[in-house]
Amino acid sequence: MVAGRRRPLKGRLGQVEMNEMKETEDMAAQSYDRLDGSIWYDGKLVPWQDANLHVLTHGLHYGSCVFEGERAYGGKIFKSTQHSERLKASANVLDFEIPYSVAEIDAAKQLVLEKNNRKEAYIRPVAWRGSEMMGVSAQNNTIHLAIACWEWPSYFDPAERLKGIRLDLADYRRPDPKTAPCMAKAAGLYMICTISKHKAERKGYADAMMLDWQGRVAECTGANIFFTKDGAIHTPIADCFLNGITRQTVIDLAKRRGIAVNERRIMPEELAGFEECFITGTAAEVTAVSEIADWRFTPGKITQQLAEDYTAEVTPKQAAA
Ligand code: PMP
Repeated sequence: MVAGRRRPLKGRLGQVEMNEMKETEDMAAQSYDRLDGSIWYDGKLVPWQDANLHVLTHGLHYGSCVFEGERAYGGKIFKSTQHSERLKASANVLDFEIPYSVAEIDAAKQLVLEKNNRKEAYIRPVAWRGSEMMGVSAQNNTIHLAIACWEWPSYFDPAERLKGIRLDLADYRRPDPKTAPCMAKAAGLYMICTISKHKAERKGYADAMMLDWQGRVAECTGANIFFTKDGAIHTPIADCFLNGITRQTVIDLAKRRGIAVNERRIMPEELAGFEECFITGTAAEVTAVSEIADWRFTPGKITQQLAEDYTAEVTPKQAAA
């Protein structure tokens, strides 16, 4: 928001422009760099607005950056250690080593949560190469780690959670594992996700489903995808996209319910034969899907059951009582 330009402009704008401006102002008011609290930055807690880095940072120019997305429920981070392990593994795929152990990262995340007085929160650890070398080669660059947390109630409109969100079909495909480090949760891989999600949102959809490099169903821009047919679950094999921690949890929950889970190749033409569809992710949790482009699904019992089971699974046992 540019102070001083706001008032004179308002008088001359139509309702649509006013609404758009209001949205921009609201976003500026909430801009993530202006929140309050503490961020863990290279081993120390710093005030939120001091957690900065230089524009000549390798991670910014060359995508040498990995991150995690985690949620805390009732003050406990769900599968914290698994996320810390994935963060370190992602860094290794990008040929760098985060200079903290899994146990240290786990403790730092918990500290951030406590210092910010949050029990229900989204946690964002991010690791990147610093500024020492500014070129493709970055052999001597220092490695940094920061951890922030904030309130992030629901990724999609909660009213749509079980009613079903609408997905577009993305133009971009998940890359061939031989052309990108697709098993890492690496910032650079999200370029095609943001482009795809923006396009979907412009068309009125909540998100987009992406195919893989061979034209098979893959996942969404920030979540994995599942379908049901005749009481069984079908989901793509996670060999060229992130095998989500929520995906693995939900597969386990389904099996515990005695629901058969088929991890297999799924071609888009098959979508016409599926009954339910849902997506999974730390942010999305379990969210029903009602449409993907011209295909229709009816959110039903399996989605509802797994959404309930997932809520029970993430709720700390003492808090659940
Ligand atoms: N795929 C992509 C592209 C994602 O960004 C995410 C969210 N991290 C997922 C899948 C789901 O992963 P998880 O369940 O571990 O959050």
